[in-house]
Amino acid sequence: MTELSVKLPDGYDSAAVTEQLFAAAHQWPDRHKFQKWMRIADTVADEMSKDDTKVGALLIGPDGETLLSGYNGPARGEDDEDPDVWGVNKNSLLSHAELNLIFTAARRHISTEGLTVVATMHPCARCAVGMQQAGVFRVITRPPVTTGRWSHNTVLAQQKMVQYGMELIYIS
Ligand SMILES: [Zn+2]
Repeated sequence: MTELSVKLPDGYDSAAVTEQLFAAAHQWPDRHKFQKWMRIADTVADEMSKDDTKVGALLIGPDGETLLSGYNGPARGEDDEDPDVWGVNKNSLLSHAELNLIFTAARRHISTEGLTVVATMHPCARCAVGMQQAGVFRVITRPPVTTGRWSHNTVLAQQKMVQYGMELIYIS
């Protein structure tokens, strides 16, 4: 598999940033709550029916309540079994878990401003941009993938979320 086309900033040391964020996460007094949310999100990821990458996400409200859950998959109304959706057009026709949360929040008139997203895999750059635009304040996730075609994309997402000033928390 080839890398998705991504140009990383010169000299950006993702490994160092990851290590720093990962170490910082263990200082959080709420880390046990974060881990609990991650376990719930892992269960949500299983809702994705296909034998494909399964990603789950939660939208957490200001009092730590779970407002919405989401997972990656085709658009509403799409035939989940349609092979065309899962074929060469997959990257165009599937919506990632994090963006599905934002879209569902829009349907339900829930403001995402200042809220937390928990995602079982590191967001891609497109989801990072979407969450920034939706005003998501904090993202609790796992470190960027270091191998495979999404690796550069997730590193770009990391770099952007840090640049945007989002609170990025890594837990295992
Ligand atoms: Zn994504």
